[in-house]
Amino acid sequence: SCGLLVLSVAACGSTADDGAVGQSAQPKAKPTVGVILPDKTSSARWEDQDRPLMAQALGFAGIEPIIENAENDEAKFASIADDMIKRGVKVLMITPLTPEGGAAVQRKAQAAKIPVIDYDRITLGGTAEYYVSFDNIAVGELQAEGLLSCLGDKPGGQIIEIQGAPTDNNATLFADGQRRKMGVKYDSGALRLVKSQAIDKWDAAIGKQQFEQILDANGGKVDGVIAANDGLAGGVIEVLKARNLVGKVPVTGQDATLAGLQAILRGEQCMTVYKPIRDEAEAAARLAIAVAKGDQDGADDLATGNTRDLVGKRDVKSVLLGADLITKPTVSRLVAEGVVKSAELCVGDL
Ligand code: BGC
Repeated sequence: SCGLLVLSVAACGSTADDGAVGQSAQPKAKPTVGVILPDKTSSARWEDQDRPLMAQALGFAGIEPIIENAENDEAKFASIADDMIKRGVKVLMITPLTPEGGAAVQRKAQAAKIPVIDYDRITLGGTAEYYVSFDNIAVGELQAEGLLSCLGDKPGGQIIEIQGAPTDNNATLFADGQRRKMGVKYDSGALRLVKSQAIDKWDAAIGKQQFEQILDANGGKVDGVIAANDGLAGGVIEVLKARNLVGKVPVTGQDATLAGLQAILRGEQCMTVYKPIRDEAEAAARLAIAVAKGDQDGADDLATGNTRDLVGKRDVKSVLLGADLITKPTVSRLVAEGVVKSAELCVGDL
């Protein structure tokens, strides 16, 4: 399928998105925006997509981006934030590891009068002025729809759910969205939920181990797997491979990572959710720029949505973007749109 894919998109050429940021000759220091990404392991997206796209979006607008990665370490997250606050960033953008860690950083920023934007994950109980993300319940619904369609008619089919980190509100929203579609099936007995397991830190190795345990405890029987992102799906697929079940048992994913898309082309993974991260980074950058300029009305015009923080008992002004279901026949769309390059996708046996 990749051969065809290469041919069909060859005419599209390069993605033409690598235009250099013009060096301004002005001696005046540029305003800075600090961005803290969560880790380098739970998903390829943070370093491969969010970092460069955010740097580009902020850079184009004459902002100096300072982008750091907390590498799954709450202490590191806090110390990066301290440094950024000390440097006097105009806006702080964070993707928290935990609500407590995120909220602690936000209180310090607030004391220093630095506005905060929650990027991708909301900080429950926090003080961020804005939140930029996707409609994460809809993401969960797409995962369930994808699984149900790959599963076909499987009366009494046994489902294992490998969910994201319990400290990530998005993981809760994905699970809520899935349940909106799966719940009726579980309730009627059309499908059986073997177990829904949250995976600490979205760690694929832990996910793999937990999936294997659940599978063993269920006598090796499984008909479908909800894996909350492509990373977790990768761990599940390894287990299925070892048991000669790969390709027979549909597995969901999320993030449209290279590995996820390759697994879909190989028939090992049933679907992924494509979230246009360029749009997310650009929306967050636009918002940050308005906030940095003190343009409150401009910022409010961008963040027209509202997200309820049930812990902080408040509404957070939000930008919430849409996501798309990707299956084998639609992977080529991402190549055509320049989201992935066929040269990177079509390697090895593909
Ligand atoms: C993000 C996902 C990502 C996961 C693990 C979530 O908060 O929305 O895109 O796969 O974290 O990093």
